[in-house]
Amino acid sequence: ENTDSVDPANLDAYSKKHFPLCMRHMHDVLRAEHHHKHQARLTYGLFLKGIGLLYEDAVRFWRDEFTKKMDSGKFEKSYLYNIKHQYGKVGRMLNYTPYSCMKIILTNVGPGEHHGCPFRNWDPNFIKQKLVEGGISNENANEIKELASGGHCQVACGKYFEYSHGKAAANGINHPNQYFEESVNLEKG
Ligand code: SF4
Repeated sequence: ENTDSVDPANLDAYSKKHFPLCMRHMHDVLRAEHHHKHQARLTYGLFLKGIGLLYEDAVRFWRDEFTKKMDSGKFEKSYLYNIKHQYGKVGRMLNYTPYSCMKIILTNVGPGEHHGCPFRNWDPNFIKQKLVEGGISNENANEIKELASGGHCQVACGKYFEYSHGKAAANGINHPNQYFEESVNLEKG
Protein backbone atom coordinates (compact mmCIF):
# COMPACT_ATOMS: atom_id res chain seq x y z
CA GLU A 1 0.00 0.00 0.00
CA ASN A 2 0.99 3.55 -0.63
CA THR A 3 2.34 5.30 2.43
CA ASP A 4 2.00 8.82 1.01
CA SER A 5 -1.40 10.37 1.56
CA VAL A 6 -3.39 11.51 -1.44
CA ASP A 7 -4.95 14.95 -1.72
CA PRO A 8 -8.61 14.50 -2.74
CA ALA A 9 -8.24 17.55 -4.97
CA ASN A 10 -5.92 15.45 -7.15
CA LEU A 11 -8.31 12.56 -7.69
CA ASP A 12 -9.69 13.79 -11.02
CA ALA A 13 -6.20 14.13 -12.46
CA TYR A 14 -4.98 10.90 -10.89
CA SER A 15 -7.94 8.96 -12.19
CA LYS A 16 -7.14 9.97 -15.77
CA LYS A 17 -3.43 9.26 -15.47
CA HIS A 18 -2.99 6.47 -12.96
CA PHE A 19 -6.23 4.57 -12.32
CA PRO A 20 -7.03 1.29 -14.04
CA LEU A 21 -10.19 1.36 -16.13
CA CYS A 22 -12.36 -0.21 -13.40
CA MET A 23 -11.55 2.55 -10.91
CA ARG A 24 -11.57 5.36 -13.43
CA HIS A 25 -15.04 4.29 -14.47
CA MET A 26 -16.32 4.31 -10.89
CA HIS A 27 -14.76 7.71 -10.34
CA ASP A 28 -16.41 9.12 -13.47
CA VAL A 29 -19.80 7.64 -12.58
CA LEU A 30 -19.58 9.07 -9.07
CA ARG A 31 -18.79 12.52 -10.43
CA ALA A 32 -21.60 12.30 -12.99
CA GLU A 33 -24.33 10.65 -10.90
CA HIS A 34 -23.30 11.66 -7.36
CA HIS A 35 -24.16 8.19 -6.20
CA HIS A 36 -22.99 4.59 -6.09
CA LYS A 37 -24.62 1.41 -4.92
CA HIS A 38 -23.13 -0.56 -2.06
CA GLN A 39 -20.60 -2.74 -3.90
CA ALA A 40 -19.15 0.17 -5.86
CA ARG A 41 -18.84 2.25 -2.69
CA LEU A 42 -16.96 -0.61 -1.12
CA THR A 43 -14.77 -1.52 -4.09
CA TYR A 44 -13.91 2.06 -5.00
CA GLY A 45 -13.71 3.22 -1.37
CA LEU A 46 -11.19 0.53 -0.46
CA PHE A 47 -9.14 1.27 -3.57
CA LEU A 48 -9.00 4.93 -2.54
CA LYS A 49 -7.99 3.97 0.96
CA GLY A 50 -5.24 1.82 -0.56
CA ILE A 51 -3.82 4.68 -2.62
CA GLY A 52 -3.59 6.80 0.53
CA LEU A 53 -6.87 8.68 0.90
CA LEU A 54 -7.12 9.40 4.62
CA TYR A 55 -10.34 8.76 6.53
CA GLU A 56 -11.28 12.42 7.01
CA ASP A 57 -10.65 13.12 3.33
CA ALA A 58 -12.70 10.09 2.32
CA VAL A 59 -15.66 11.32 4.35
CA ARG A 60 -15.37 14.74 2.75
CA PHE A 61 -14.98 13.29 -0.74
CA TRP A 62 -18.05 11.03 -0.55
CA ARG A 63 -20.13 13.58 1.31
CA ASP A 64 -19.39 16.32 -1.24
CA GLU A 65 -20.59 14.09 -4.08
CA PHE A 66 -23.58 12.46 -2.39
CA THR A 67 -24.93 15.72 -0.99
CA LYS A 68 -25.28 17.06 -4.51
CA LYS A 69 -28.34 14.82 -4.59
CA MET A 70 -29.36 14.42 -0.95
CA ASP A 71 -29.17 16.42 2.25
CA SER A 72 -26.32 15.82 4.65
CA GLY A 73 -28.65 14.30 7.24
CA LYS A 74 -29.49 11.48 4.87
CA PHE A 75 -25.82 11.03 4.04
CA GLU A 76 -24.86 10.80 7.71
CA LYS A 77 -27.67 8.40 8.41
CA SER A 78 -27.33 6.06 5.44
CA TYR A 79 -23.78 6.23 4.16
CA LEU A 80 -21.30 7.49 6.74
CA TYR A 81 -21.27 4.17 8.58
CA ASN A 82 -20.07 2.44 5.41
CA ILE A 83 -17.02 4.66 5.18
CA LYS A 84 -16.24 4.25 8.86
CA HIS A 85 -16.52 0.53 8.32
CA GLN A 86 -14.10 0.56 5.39
CA TYR A 87 -11.54 2.32 7.55
CA GLY A 88 -12.04 -0.12 10.41
CA LYS A 89 -13.56 2.47 12.73
CA VAL A 90 -16.77 0.57 13.53
CA GLY A 91 -18.07 -2.99 13.43
CA ARG A 92 -15.38 -5.57 13.91
CA MET A 93 -12.77 -2.84 13.51
CA LEU A 94 -10.99 -4.80 10.81
CA ASN A 95 -8.54 -3.15 8.52
CA TYR A 96 -10.17 -4.09 5.21
CA THR A 97 -7.88 -4.51 2.25
CA PRO A 98 -8.65 -3.30 -1.27
CA TYR A 99 -9.97 -5.93 -3.68
CA SER A 100 -7.75 -7.80 -6.12
CA CYS A 101 -8.48 -8.15 -9.83
CA MET A 102 -9.60 -11.74 -9.31
CA LYS A 103 -12.17 -10.68 -6.76
CA ILE A 104 -13.42 -7.84 -8.95
CA ILE A 105 -13.51 -9.97 -12.10
CA LEU A 106 -15.52 -12.73 -10.38
CA THR A 107 -18.07 -10.42 -8.77
CA ASN A 108 -21.66 -10.17 -9.98
CA VAL A 109 -22.68 -6.86 -11.47
CA GLY A 110 -26.39 -6.10 -11.61
CA PRO A 111 -28.26 -3.33 -13.42
CA GLY A 112 -27.17 0.14 -12.31
CA GLU A 113 -24.02 -1.25 -10.73
CA HIS A 114 -20.48 -0.27 -11.73
CA HIS A 115 -18.08 -2.21 -9.54
CA GLY A 116 -16.95 -4.93 -11.96
CA CYS A 117 -13.99 -5.28 -14.30
CA PRO A 118 -14.75 -3.42 -17.54
CA PHE A 119 -12.80 -6.00 -19.54
CA ARG A 120 -15.17 -8.65 -18.33
CA ASN A 121 -18.45 -6.78 -18.00
CA TRP A 122 -18.55 -4.26 -20.80
CA ASP A 123 -19.64 -4.91 -24.34
CA PRO A 124 -16.45 -5.34 -26.44
CA ASN A 125 -17.39 -2.47 -28.75
CA PHE A 126 -17.92 -0.20 -25.78
CA ILE A 127 -14.49 -1.18 -24.43
CA LYS A 128 -12.96 -0.22 -27.74
CA GLN A 129 -14.83 3.07 -27.88
CA LYS A 130 -13.70 4.00 -24.36
CA LEU A 131 -10.09 3.12 -25.12
CA VAL A 132 -10.00 5.13 -28.31
CA GLU A 133 -11.59 8.08 -26.49
CA GLY A 134 -8.79 7.73 -23.94
CA GLY A 135 -6.15 8.10 -26.65
CA ILE A 136 -5.36 4.45 -27.49
CA SER A 137 -4.82 3.82 -31.22
CA ASN A 138 -7.42 1.95 -33.22
CA GLU A 139 -5.10 -1.01 -33.75
CA ASN A 140 -4.12 -1.29 -30.09
CA ALA A 141 -7.71 -0.87 -28.97
CA ASN A 142 -8.71 -3.76 -31.27
CA GLU A 143 -6.05 -5.97 -29.74
CA ILE A 144 -7.31 -5.18 -26.22
CA LYS A 145 -10.91 -5.71 -27.27
CA GLU A 146 -10.02 -9.19 -28.64
CA LEU A 147 -8.22 -10.13 -25.44
CA ALA A 148 -11.22 -9.05 -23.39
CA SER A 149 -13.63 -10.94 -25.66
CA GLY A 150 -11.50 -14.05 -25.13
CA GLY A 151 -11.86 -13.69 -21.36
CA HIS A 152 -8.27 -12.53 -20.78
CA CYS A 153 -9.21 -9.57 -18.63
CA GLN A 154 -5.95 -9.05 -16.81
CA VAL A 155 -3.89 -9.46 -19.98
CA ALA A 156 -6.14 -6.89 -21.66
CA CYS A 157 -5.64 -4.58 -18.68
CA GLY A 158 -1.87 -5.10 -18.88
CA LYS A 159 -1.91 -4.13 -22.55
CA TYR A 160 -3.95 -1.09 -21.70
CA PHE A 161 -1.33 -0.14 -19.12
CA GLU A 162 1.44 -0.69 -21.65
CA TYR A 163 -0.18 1.33 -24.42
CA SER A 164 -1.14 4.21 -22.18
CA HIS A 165 2.26 4.40 -20.42
CA GLY A 166 4.62 3.41 -23.22
CA LYS A 167 5.96 0.67 -20.96
CA ALA A 168 4.61 -2.61 -19.62
CA ALA A 169 3.85 -3.13 -15.94
CA ALA A 170 6.67 -5.16 -14.41
CA ASN A 171 4.68 -8.23 -13.36
CA GLY A 172 1.42 -8.01 -15.28
CA ILE A 173 -1.70 -6.68 -13.57
CA ASN A 174 -3.19 -8.50 -10.63
CA HIS A 175 -4.46 -5.69 -8.41
CA PRO A 176 -5.92 -2.24 -9.14
CA ASN A 177 -3.71 -0.74 -6.43
CA GLN A 178 -0.66 -2.34 -8.00
CA TYR A 179 -1.67 -0.77 -11.32
CA PHE A 180 -1.83 2.59 -9.59
CA GLU A 181 1.54 2.18 -7.83
CA GLU A 182 3.30 1.12 -10.99
CA SER A 183 1.79 3.99 -12.92
CA VAL A 184 2.84 6.56 -10.31
CA ASN A 185 6.31 5.05 -10.05
CA LEU A 186 6.81 5.27 -13.80
CA GLU A 187 6.04 8.95 -13.63
CA LYS A 188 8.48 9.47 -10.75
CA GLY A 189 11.07 7.64 -12.89
FE1 SF4 B 1 -9.42 -3.34 -12.78
FE2 SF4 B 1 -8.00 -5.58 -12.59
FE3 SF4 B 1 -9.97 -5.35 -14.41
FE4 SF4 B 1 -7.69 -4.02 -14.67
S1 SF4 B 1 -7.95 -6.28 -14.72
S2 SF4 B 1 -9.73 -3.19 -15.00
S3 SF4 B 1 -7.19 -3.50 -12.58
S4 SF4 B 1 -10.20 -5.37 -12.19
